[in-house]
Amino acid sequence: MKRLVAARMDRCIGCHSCSLACARLVHKILSWEHAGIRISSSGGLTTGFQAEVCLACDPPPCAAACPTGSLKARPGGGVVRNKSLCIQCGQCVPACPVGAIAQDRAGDIYVCIHCGQCVPFCPHDCLELVEVGS
Ligand code: SF4
Ligand code: SF4
Repeated sequence: MKRLVAARMDRCIGCHSCSLACARLVHKILSWEHAGIRISSSGGLTTGFQAEVCLACDPPPCAAACPTGSLKARPGGGVVRNKSLCIQCGQCVPACPVGAIAQDRAGDIYVCIHCGQCVPFCPHDCLELVEVGS
């Protein structure tokens, strides 16, 4: 089982390529806010950037908060998602301890599924897909 890790954020220039890759390839839209990984300033213009992304908690508190089973624990940490079960209640959003789950105005949920498709799009090798126990 693989897990996405934002391993070298000191190299990040805030280009949002990872977020756009996730939005385009996973969520089929074009918006860096509608992605499983989102980049924000870590405090100010001179302090660099941080990634808002799933830490692959095991067990995942977002899955425990989901009343419908739309989010389920994934072997090795994090969640698998059954979008068709989501009632857009938003209870998973505050349940995430690192703010990795986003919800848009329509109620749709964006959480990393650790597929790794964003990794080759980072021009500075900030991201890594690592093997974790299953
Ligand atoms: S918004 Fe969807 S995924 Fe999140 S807790 Fe509610 S039903 Fe589950
Ligand atoms: S690993 Fe996949 S789901 Fe996670 S942020 Fe990258 S492209 Fe999105």
